[in-house]
Amino acid sequence: MSTETYGAAFAVRWMDGVAAAVEREAGRLTDLDAAIGDADHGANLKRGFAAVAEALAKEPPATPGAVLVTAGGLLIATVGGASGPLYGTLLRRAGKALGEAGEVSRAELADALAAGVAAVGRLGGAVPGDKTMLDALTPAVEALRESFAAARSAAEAGALATVPLRARKGRASYLGERSVGHRDPGATSSVLLFAALEEAAAG
Ligand code: ADP
Ligand code: MG
Repeated sequence: MSTETYGAAFAVRWMDGVAAAVEREAGRLTDLDAAIGDADHGANLKRGFAAVAEALAKEPPATPGAVLVTAGGLLIATVGGASGPLYGTLLRRAGKALGEAGEVSRAELADALAAGVAAVGRLGGAVPGDKTMLDALTPAVEALRESFAAARSAAEAGALATVPLRARKGRASYLGERSVGHRDPGATSSVLLFAALEEAAAG
């Protein structure tokens, strides 16, 4: 069992890693969104996480919880699309759940992110199987209880499993049957979130 703990610098590394990944993968996220949405998912996340990375570099918060609350608030404020308030809620709620602790365990992080995922479900009204980011986020936070690597691969499997689904929430749901056969953009960006988390945890 791991007794490792994770502090504010880790959380900043995580958010910087997400910013770098969405910058790198923006074209692919936008192509996925072009197929079943409005072709802005890459640009949305790039703008949001660039603002997060900039703010954290300027004034790094003292605790991992405060890092996530700051990041979430900025995503809500800077991203126009549905994904901004959804990812923003995930991180803000998780940050609040971590409270004032200077260092947290992986188990505490998993609990906090589970609270965040539940808040995303309440905000968007989606459940796993609706072909949204929840299809990757839900199994990922569950697997995070096991390891960072397990969380990343659960997110990957969840995102891949959105391909045959028919979208029941968000813009893609307007397409009905025509959403089948395409990978959900938000579930795909959720993989980047958990890949960056694994990298940040590795140091
Ligand atoms: P928009 O749909 O407003 O253009 P984005 O393109 O940035 O926003 O994000 C689209 C992604 O957001 C979708 O691929 C899906 O994963 C996620 N999404 C949309 N609506 C919901 C919802 N109600 N619940 C959970 N996730 C959602
Ligand atoms: Mg879109």
